Amino acid sequence: MLRNILKGETCAGCRICCIYDDSDVWDAPGFTEKEFSKAKDKTEALFSQRDDGLYYLQMEKDSEGIYTCPCLSDKGCTLGEDKPFRCRLWPLYLINTEHGLGIALSPVCPEVWKRKSEDIFEGIRDQIPFLLETAGEDPSLVEKWNPEYRMIALPDEAGVYHYIPDEEGTEIHLHLRDMSVTELQNLYKEEFVFDFPEDELKKLDLMIDLKNQGKYVTYAFFDRGVYVGYALFDINPTGKKIYLFDYLGVTPSLRGKGYATMILDLIRAHFAGKVSLAGEVEDPFMTDDPEIKRDRERLMNFYITNGWQDTGISMFLFDVDYRILYYPSGEAIEPMELVDYYRRHFIDMVGEEEFEGNMRINSITEI
Ligand code: SF4
Ligand code: SF4
Repeated sequence: MLRNILKGETCAGCRICCIYDDSDVWDAPGFTEKEFSKAKDKTEALFSQRDDGLYYLQMEKDSEGIYTCPCLSDKGCTLGEDKPFRCRLWPLYLINTEHGLGIALSPVCPEVWKRKSEDIFEGIRDQIPFLLETAGEDPSLVEKWNPEYRMIALPDEAGVYHYIPDEEGTEIHLHLRDMSVTELQNLYKEEFVFDFPEDELKKLDLMIDLKNQGKYVTYAFFDRGVYVGYALFDINPTGKKIYLFDYLGVTPSLRGKGYATMILDLIRAHFAGKVSLAGEVEDPFMTDDPEIKRDRERLMNFYITNGWQDTGISMFLFDVDYRILYYPSGEAIEPMELVDYYRRHFIDMVGEEEFEGNMRINSITEI
């Protein structure tokens, strides 16, 4: 793939892409079903299939902590023409983005990482149609995003690829935009239903209804064009500019990489001076179970360290005890105004009769 950029001797003297340690063995190539059925007759090495449906070569760690691909010989890859697509493409990856398939670069290759994105792009430009066609035939060839990658090229609205300047492609840069109804439907099926217990999950039809009425804000967040998470808000029906934080999530493959904090920072900047935010977390003070208490405290502290304030309001809503948090980025709000807001909000959602039996204020503590 990178013949125009890399000399054979450079790779022969390096071989990093076929040798791993504990930090990058997860990046060893996966073989699609078709690739596996060709490769298994060319090697005695054993494969195992993982949850992602791909087949991986089994590798043993040597005494120095190194894993070497069993298909690597002194003369190179013993699979020859039957080496998997991922090895042909390496150190590049195809990544799903909001614009279409993006082309990203792994920082593990010391040689290509030194090159300018513009030069890498020129080196592979004529092969892009082949890459798109191959990935179109087998979507399992598309890789999951890693914030350490550099985005090299993205398509424009007409599908024409352009390189991304080095810094822009390397640095994490989040932007947000409103989701379409179709995107909301897809996310609900693919993420929300797994991210939240059933009793905490709003019905999809209700979300769409509120969104169509302009009462529900649905933001998706992207890093260099790659979808990373979502945040959904109810709009206050009392007239004050308060949005109620309904759900926040980071897509499963990108959790633990700091995106939740970055999403909160971006929300803060986006609403600064315009809208105050309120949201509820399960109340850590309303359980005697030490494990549940610890989990609830962890979540509440995550918000507090990101600038949110504890209002001191504890509410029982539809069988769950919640603590109300507040982010003062717009108009100031009194605790009782928030209580009124929640009241109106739920009456609006489920009707007065159902609401009255399902909400009570546990306490309003002076903080
Ligand atoms: S890591 Fe880069 S330079 Fe090294 S062998 Fe692989 S492609 Fe070649
Ligand atoms: S299959 Fe071949 S190219 Fe791929 S990692 Fe193993 S030796 Fe290297």
